[in-house]
Order: sequence, then structure tokens, then C-alpha cells
Amino acid sequence: MKRIIPLLLLVIILCGCSVTSTYSGSFFAMDTYMTITVCGNNPEKAVKKAEARVKKLDEAFSAHNKKSGVYKLNKNGSAELEPDAVELLSLALNNYRITDGAFNPAMLSVTELWGFPDKNYKVPSENEIKSAHKNVKPEKITVKNNTVKLNNKGMKIDFGAIAKGYTSDKLIDTLKKEGIKSALVNLGGNVAVLGGKPDGSDWAVAVENPDKKGSYLATLKIRDKSVITSGGYERYFKKNGKVYHHILNPKTGHPAESSLKSVTIVGKNGTYCDALSTALFVMGKEKALRFWAENGLDFDVILYTENGGLFVTEGVSDIINSDFDYKVVKRSDYE
Ligand code: ADP
Ligand code: MG
Repeated sequence: MKRIIPLLLLVIILCGCSVTSTYSGSFFAMDTYMTITVCGNNPEKAVKKAEARVKKLDEAFSAHNKKSGVYKLNKNGSAELEPDAVELLSLALNNYRITDGAFNPAMLSVTELWGFPDKNYKVPSENEIKSAHKNVKPEKITVKNNTVKLNNKGMKIDFGAIAKGYTSDKLIDTLKKEGIKSALVNLGGNVAVLGGKPDGSDWAVAVENPDKKGSYLATLKIRDKSVITSGGYERYFKKNGKVYHHILNPKTGHPAESSLKSVTIVGKNGTYCDALSTALFVMGKEKALRFWAENGLDFDVILYTENGGLFVTEGVSDIINSDFDYKVVKRSDYE
């Protein structure tokens, strides 16, 4: 059994922050370590506001905190949720639809069978999976005002694959309201940046190499963007020599076997980046690239395959720096 702290992206802050005042705050929330770095006037005040916002969102989205509306919803099948949780549910259901179910926010009863939420890992029987899986029907979820009903016995919702992306979007909003123009938010390896560095240059964000902790597949130069990675190497256990990781294929109820090691999404909207990093990991390389080419959403993708292939979509080719051989994928490849 092994638990690797999800530090999928190591952030290189080649900061020109010294020209203005900088403050960095770190804390634990949403089951991961978070760091918020702000450059500007009174950065400490802005970081404290952002931290308070994270704590509130964590309480609203948690499936395990007894005070959370999501916990009550999963327990009772119906509950009033915080407005942020209602908004996140609607975004999650939209991602479920656009990814043809590869992203599924209602899989918690199946994830629990594998012991991922409480780290009490086990391989469930096929019968257990089948009986939990048949209740997973996000179409049956209804929302009226802020009251959510699951309408299917045993179905439980889980924002684990989208909450950090949504939270990073909200934090960037909070920092903007504080008058901040330059910041970097790292939520356990899910990164969002506001503006560029105070010296006017871009932020440099590194994408971790799943094969070698502490080394990178690439670094990316970004501003006003999120960079979010999903990978099977991040949380997993081994049983009888087989690896079982925490990203499930909603069609089977088993860990996704997609021949990918990691999927990184780069885009303006952190919520989509987070949901899509999980969904494209489930889809596998060919389906993921076709989805990127045909879907019409503005984002880019970095795929790292089981056999060490690195594929980047065309928007990344201008901002990437990598020692690996990589193939640039173009939309015209899919016409
Ligand atoms: P992480 O948040 O650990 O960096 P992800 O964003 O990929 O990685 O989220 C994985 C988490 O999402 C799992 O731990 C589980 O709670 C949940 N999950 C697993 N498979 C799916 C899926 N296919 N769709 C939506 N959520 C999922
Ligand atoms: Mg995700």
C-alpha cells in the first residue's frame, strides 16, 4: 500500500516579486497542502482572505465533514447545499454530459468500495461493484432553489475531481477583488496564476514526471491560466502485484485502464481544467485528443503515456520547454 502526496506539479517561482511586497501562506485543506503566493500591496491580507475562502469552500464541498451539505445530501438523499456547492454541482453535471460520462461526480459509493476515501484499500468483489454501480445515475439528480435530491438509493456525490479547480477560480476572483494583479495559487499541485510576475515576465510552472519524483516532463510559461494534472501514480495501492489507482472508469466501476500515466490540462478556467484532466485520463489517448480537437472548448493538453510518449496539443507548443522528445498534436490532424 502506498500513498503519495499529490504534488503533481512542482511550481518554479522564478519570482521578480522582490520589487513589490510578497507574501506566501501554506495550509492543509481539501486533503492536500496548499500555498498561495501574492505579490502586491498588503499581500498578507489578501492571502488570509483567500485562505478563509478555501476553508469555507472545503466545508461546503466535503463528503466527509459532518457539517457539510454534501455529507448530509449523501446520507439522507436530499439536502440544502451552500450556493457554491449548488453552482459546482451544476458545473460537474455539465462536465458529465460533455465528456459522455467519463467525468462522473456521483461515483462515491463505488470509490468507497475500493477504500480510496478513507485509505482503507481493498479490491471489492464484482458483485459489490455491480450493485453499487447500478445506482450511479447523475441524470436523476434534481435541484430546486438550493435543495438537491439524489432520487436514487445509494447514490452519493463526490467533488474530488473538480473542487480544487473551482476553488482556484474563486481564489483568483477573491485576490482580484483585493486589488492584486500578480499571484500564484498552488492547491496540491493544481496551479492557477493571476497575471504575470510583477517584473512583467510569465510564471514558470513545471509538470512533474510521473516516472521520477522531483523531476519534470516540462516547464510551461503562463499568465492568467490554470495548469491541472491527473495521474494514476498519485494515489494507488498494490494487491498481488497489480496496481489499483484512484481514478475510476465510470462505465466499469474499476480503476481506468487507459494506458496514460498523466494528463495535464492548461486553460483559462480551472474548474474545466480539473474536471477534464480526470475525464481525459479516463478516455485514454486517442479519445482524449479527439475530444480536445472537436469539443470547441479553449484548452490545451499534455499527455504522458505508459510507454513514455509525450504528446502536447498545438497551443502548448509556444509555451513549453522540455528535454523530452514530444509530438505536437494539431487540430488539423483530426479533420
Ligand atoms: P486529484 O484531485 O487527486 O489531484 P483528480 O482531479 O483526477 O485528482 O480527482 C480524483 C478524485 O476524483 C478521486 O480520488 C475520486 O474521489 C474522484 N473520481 C475518481 N474517478 C472519477 C471520475 N471518473 N469522475 C469524477 N470523479 C472521479
Ligand atoms: Mg480533476
